[in-house]
Amino acid sequence: MSDVTTPTEEWTKPLPTPDDVNRDYWQAGTEGRLLIQACPHCGHRQFYPRALCTSCAGEPEWLECTGRGTVHTFTIVRQMGMRAFRNELPYVVAMIELDEGPLIMGNVTDCDPESVRIGLPVEVHFINAADDVGVPMWRPVPAR
Ligand SMILES: [Zn+2]
Repeated sequence: MSDVTTPTEEWTKPLPTPDDVNRDYWQAGTEGRLLIQACPHCGHRQFYPRALCTSCAGEPEWLECTGRGTVHTFTIVRQMGMRAFRNELPYVVAMIELDEGPLIMGNVTDCDPESVRIGLPVEVHFINAADDVGVPMWRPVPAR
């Protein structure tokens, strides 16, 4: 389980609408758990959640991740018109390569945006955006 934070202010960013395919994914986030899909027929792993395996069209199952990965690529957002995002400028949007394989997009938080590099080890944490929506965020793994 990873850290889950409930914002002190109302969530004003766009929210996903959980459906039959992704409801378990968003709910797991509220519990500090990151889920991807793994295919029991061919072993393919995928993110984002889909009704079918993109490799063999089998029915995928959930796989709980370690919540660890590395920055695959990223950008620093310095201008943004929407108020909810503008208040956080500058911020990092990254593609994270999960230890389990798939790429997942998210913000890298809890660090100076200028310190983010490709290959940076990161770990997931979650923001509860709604009762049934936990949004994964990423932060550098503390040096040991
Ligand atoms: Zn498959």
